[in-house]
Amino acid sequence: MAKFSVTTAIVYVNDRPALHSVYELVAADVLARYHRLAGGDTFFLTGTDEHSINVERAARQQGMGARVYSDQMAQIYKDVEAQFRISYDRFIRTEDPDHVAGVQKLIGAIQASGDIYKGTYSGWYCPSCEAFYQESELNNGYCRIHPAIKASWLQEDNYFFALSRYQERLQQHIEKHPQFIQPESRRNEILGWLKAGLKDFSISRSTIAWGIPFPGDERHVVYVWGDALVNYITGVGYGSDEAAFRRWWPADLHIIGKDITRFHTVIWPAMLLSARLPLPRQVFGHGFMTLNGQRMSKSLGTIVDPLEAANRHGVDPLRLYLAKEITFGGDGDFSWERFDERYNVDLANNLGNLVSRVAAMAHRYRSGRVAPAGAPADGLARIGDEAASAYRRSMDALSLHEAVAAAFRIVDATNEFIASTAPWQLAKESSAADRLTQVLFDAAEAIRLAAVLLTPIMPSSSAEILRRVGVSADGLRLDRDGRWRPEGERLLAQEGPLWPRFEIGPTMSGKKEAATVADDSTQPSKPPALAPAGEGPASAPAPADNRIGIDDFMRVELRVAKVVAAERVPKSNRLLKLQVDVGSEQRTLVAGIAEAYEPEALVGKSVVVVFNLKPAKLMGIESNGMVLAASPDGGKPIVVTFEDAPAPGTRVR
Ligand code: ZN
Repeated sequence: MAKFSVTTAIVYVNDRPALHSVYELVAADVLARYHRLAGGDTFFLTGTDEHSINVERAARQQGMGARVYSDQMAQIYKDVEAQFRISYDRFIRTEDPDHVAGVQKLIGAIQASGDIYKGTYSGWYCPSCEAFYQESELNNGYCRIHPAIKASWLQEDNYFFALSRYQERLQQHIEKHPQFIQPESRRNEILGWLKAGLKDFSISRSTIAWGIPFPGDERHVVYVWGDALVNYITGVGYGSDEAAFRRWWPADLHIIGKDITRFHTVIWPAMLLSARLPLPRQVFGHGFMTLNGQRMSKSLGTIVDPLEAANRHGVDPLRLYLAKEITFGGDGDFSWERFDERYNVDLANNLGNLVSRVAAMAHRYRSGRVAPAGAPADGLARIGDEAASAYRRSMDALSLHEAVAAAFRIVDATNEFIASTAPWQLAKESSAADRLTQVLFDAAEAIRLAAVLLTPIMPSSSAEILRRVGVSADGLRLDRDGRWRPEGERLLAQEGPLWPRFEIGPTMSGKKEAATVADDSTQPSKPPALAPAGEGPASAPAPADNRIGIDDFMRVELRVAKVVAAERVPKSNRLLKLQVDVGSEQRTLVAGIAEAYEPEALVGKSVVVVFNLKPAKLMGIESNGMVLAASPDGGKPIVVTFEDAPAPGTRVR
């Protein structure tokens, strides 16, 4: 049985949980659940990082001791992780006695290798990173990761780890093992950094008391990185359970944020090499999360509370969004609008509606009971098996978003299958009775397969779907259940919608309308968008075929923009080049309104722009967006503007 051990970075308890830290947990959880489903022997480690000056400070601010504060915060994180169904095997706290003992053992092993010496450290220090930087690594004296924090010059006596001795071995290891650092861009970054040379690294602090006593000199505590990183081995038994340690170490995968790649690919492996321990197989640095394109940060007010996000449509829809909408490894954006939209498109209209329709037809035509009764749908079975293989390949390659997309290919194919086989037509022909039974069975089977594949991403919802298509979610195994199974009788459950449509109103506070009607005049064919739960053919053709659904409309992001500057585009009678403030940034765009407006007249005006339009080059100028204007026949364009202008960036719909 394949072994798979995965870790997340342990979270700093100096602040409450935020969506971007939950993102990392969800990604690791999806992979852990996938490997369990595949029959792998899996260990998933996560936890809290409690020893740091920031934690001490946060505790003091709240008038409590660091230990009491850490206890509370660890509990808050555990509660959030329980809500998000994070299926860790161990939640380690750096205050745990076995961790403390393990850190001291590791420092002892590094001392025994002769890699620790006493010295004086001085340098530019960011207290939030808890790291020293070269002047050139700062931005006018400010930390690049914490733009609000000015680095301070710090000098203290402490113990040093002889990191420089490992430069060559690290470089060789990274060059010889292309998988060690992923994605590739991070690997190149680290190699470049290594080649510039490594400095010894201070591994103790005498200025703080909140930490693990340094072996041999209790006036010092172990520097937080020399403590936190070690959780990856103490969490699987280093220093306390040798058998467990041999079983689970080295870890197969450390999932971390890209900003801490250096610590994990240079300092951490050097410490392990010094202690003569094996290195982890892979360090994967995922990207940052943004809110409406802006970095999530407390100072910008762009932190999203994960529980608030989960309350909107449920934990599973949020897990799906995080796994599906963000390219794992790249930066990813979250916005409430997009979350609402994906919820409606992927779940309410697509998967949820499919489950309801198939159950409704099975009940209408076959009392809910379906079984193979004729020639199976080869096409659908083939798509199902191909998608299942693609899903496994993508998961193994850590391409979570592609794995989810593969599962949804089955859902899409099933919708098309129902549209093309038209069960409601078959029901009218007595000679097609077996064919109808088979079609319903095939549709139910496709739903079953998709739900199995989605289990690691949406554990509760997938179990519910499996129950509704008459199979058990217990003891699922990918090799047996993760492929097309042309046999068995299924009793389908006809129940209310799994995911009621979220009505997107004119304000941010949409509300859920349960049971999206149900007469028989529903659209069975694709696109499934907007087809309510029900079945049967469209009884009346749509009066206007060019109408679009709300989801199509919502894809067009219209926003208020304030014109900051305007000028004519040289050699063009028609074009103006505008500089506009869209709230989060300033953009350049080109508008064909020069015949109607003098540039000066537009400055200060608030207009409406298509915010998510792909850039286009006009007369050599890249235009990022489009200004809305009325175009009267034969007349000059009239720009859409406001009587009372809302703030730039406000969404228009
Ligand atoms: Zn910093």
